[in-house]
Amino acid sequence: MSSTLTKNISCPVCGTQNEITVYKTVNANTDPDLRTALLNGELLHFKCMDCGYEAELKYPLLYNDVKNAFMIYYLPDIDRETITDEDLEKQFPDLDDITRRLVSSFNELKEKIHIFESGLDDEVIEVVKAALKDVVEKRTNDTVEGGFFSKYSTSEDRIGFTFFVGEDKEQFVQTTRLEVYEKSTPVAKSFDAPNAHRHFRTINRDWARNAIYNYRKNK
Ligand SMILES: [Zn+2]
Repeated sequence: MSSTLTKNISCPVCGTQNEITVYKTVNANTDPDLRTALLNGELLHFKCMDCGYEAELKYPLLYNDVKNAFMIYYLPDIDRETITDEDLEKQFPDLDDITRRLVSSFNELKEKIHIFESGLDDEVIEVVKAALKDVVEKRTNDTVEGGFFSKYSTSEDRIGFTFFVGEDKEQFVQTTRLEVYEKSTPVAKSFDAPNAHRHFRTINRDWARNAIYNYRKNK
């Protein structure tokens, strides 16, 4: 079951009170429509009923997909201090087979959902992404701000990412063979902490950099 609560928020532009539905948890298995609404941005979209001001709502949300064995806690940066890791562990103590992740942006949340629904491992994905980011920086001779998982096809033997290049954050798609994913697996797995699966963990670019560094050092 998903759980919601109703809140009144005042529009930052005109001050009108708007009643909004806050989704504390979204259960992708029992409420597939909510999953769709989340992924297309509708669920976290605010539109003032008076002046029409639109914005993305930012509040903690737990996304739950037991069928695909993952749980993602979306904790926007602004709320990071209000919930401790311990609180989370206490709330979900006995879910050994569930991959648990903590993300701080909506884009990361969407990316994780796509990765896990594709049956892929996000640690390996981050390692591949870090390697391809270097490739894109060389190819474009520019800096790459970030990127997200955007392609996975076994028939085409491709895995790919969309990167944001340069000051204008121009989109650049870089794909590679699936073999690169296989080869990156030991790099990611050598960096797993004991009992890592028991915690809500942040697996992002920094984590991947550390994993790669650690792997090269111990080789
Ligand atoms: Zn307004």
